[in-house]
Amino acid sequence: MNNINVIIIGSGIAGMASAIRLRSFGYNVEIFEANSYAGGKLTAFKSNGYRFDMGPSLFTMPNLIEELFEIAEKPIENYFNFKRKSVICNYFYEDGTKFSAPADKFTFAKSASNTFEVEEKTILDYLNRCENKYELTASLFLENSLHKLSTYLSKDTLIALLKISKLNINKNLSDYNSTIFRDPRLIQFFNRFATYNGSSPYQTPGIMSMIPHLEQSLGTYFPKGGMHQITKSLEKLAKDIGIKFTFNTKVEEIMINRSKVSGIKTAKVFIPSDIIISNVDIVSTYLKLLPKERVPKRILSQERSSSALIFYWGITKKFPDLDLHNIFFSADYKNEFKCIFQDDTISDDPTVYINISSKEEPNDSPNGCENWFTMVNAPRNNGQDWDTLIRKTRINIIEKLSRVLKVDLNELINYESILSPKNIETKTQSYQGSIYGAASHSKFSAFLRHPNFSSSISNLYFCGGSVHPGGGIPLCLWSAKIAADLIHKSSKS
Ligand SMILES: Cc1cc2nc3c(=O)[nH]c(=O)nc-3n(C[C@H](O)[C@H](O)[C@H](O)COP(=O)(O)OP(=O)(O)OC[C@H]3O[C@@H](n4cnc5c(N)ncnc54)[C@H](O)[C@@H]3O)c2cc1C
Repeated sequence: MNNINVIIIGSGIAGMASAIRLRSFGYNVEIFEANSYAGGKLTAFKSNGYRFDMGPSLFTMPNLIEELFEIAEKPIENYFNFKRKSVICNYFYEDGTKFSAPADKFTFAKSASNTFEVEEKTILDYLNRCENKYELTASLFLENSLHKLSTYLSKDTLIALLKISKLNINKNLSDYNSTIFRDPRLIQFFNRFATYNGSSPYQTPGIMSMIPHLEQSLGTYFPKGGMHQITKSLEKLAKDIGIKFTFNTKVEEIMINRSKVSGIKTAKVFIPSDIIISNVDIVSTYLKLLPKERVPKRILSQERSSSALIFYWGITKKFPDLDLHNIFFSADYKNEFKCIFQDDTISDDPTVYINISSKEEPNDSPNGCENWFTMVNAPRNNGQDWDTLIRKTRINIIEKLSRVLKVDLNELINYESILSPKNIETKTQSYQGSIYGAASHSKFSAFLRHPNFSSSISNLYFCGGSVHPGGGIPLCLWSAKIAADLIHKSSKS
């Protein structure tokens, strides 16, 4: 142990991951969490015989979780198990097309060419280009701080910068996809990946076409016991290696003395600390926890990412046509994103995502039933009349699913709970309920995200979905690695 104390504010996935990394380096680490439970957005609940994962449902890049167990020197199989999915997602289009996306990229290309107007080779070439973009940029954009000179002095960075024209940053994702594919259904399929970081395919740059590589080439996974096992296993690992959690304790302020952190203030006490990491949304960190500090206006005033509206439904019927992940596409995708990002509303024909964990874990629902996590992308909370918007959207979703699945869905729902952007904001302090911090709508988005450290306050660091490199579980885990490595490097120097 090195006798350096670190306080982490928030026990989201990134907060816990940075805690585990720092503890493994020998720091004394304590996490303060406002809620009574760990995990932030990555949580779950049970009701009326159903279990629902509340937030994330798609699990990619399990190697980033494995790495945490490796560095903590604990056998992962005692904590966390997962399996690879052979079918990634079932897609339903308004024109009646159904497409089941196989995980293996060659089978995927074959099935896609049987369903859409496209040659197998075109798909494979596209996926190879996705992979190249990922390989070219991962070490620059994802695995290192973009705000440290040392990042720019590496060979990988120079190669990425020399090949910048191949990254398609001057076209939006939809325009880029339209240059490759003719079939509008396939363009819509590949446009959807913009939503993985809460952006619009009509605004996010073409470089985001690297995202299908994560899913289509590296695979998607299901944690045994459901997504919440990620939180539960990391919480257990953290406790086992000596990290202290203090729940039900909201941090009121990060205390600064002579431009250096001195500790945190809760409603009751001041707790001193050498180093602080905020896992709280970066806008909330500045507005609530650093009220006396200068706000980096350009960074914090960026357009927010999308949020989500979720209906957790208990369904009294089994649907053999559905799998773990299912998408029911909108007939007018462009309008759907205009509604979210320009009009702060939800279109009357939103794309509906249904996650059914009981397909993998039968005990997640009563016999003969399924647990439907039914989600549509939604705008940030901007003070809309959510009651009216939720009521209208519920009717539209039920009408759409009833029509496509040829059932009366109203009759099949025997349990319902709802999560809105407003609730997401209240439960996790994510500013305006945005899931991924800022939207990635500029070709400079990666550079505009807040760094993982403060340049004006010594020993203050940041991790989580709203800072570099961005939102989603894998990116949060990278943010934790970058923050922990920066701390360790600066403590050693
Ligand atoms: C509905 C939904 C679906 C999603 N789907 C996916 C998906 O399929 N795949 C994927 O990879 N990602 C998905 N995401 C995104 C993913 O959940 C997030 O990127 C990730 O969980 C964010 O983790 P985080 O570390 O940033 O912290 P958060 O989960 O935001 O947690 C922050 C924590 O800080 C605590 N906190 C805040 N303020 C204070 C304070 N003042 N004092 C103490 N504690 C405080 C909060 O209580 C919270 O526990 C989804 C998110 C949502 C909401």
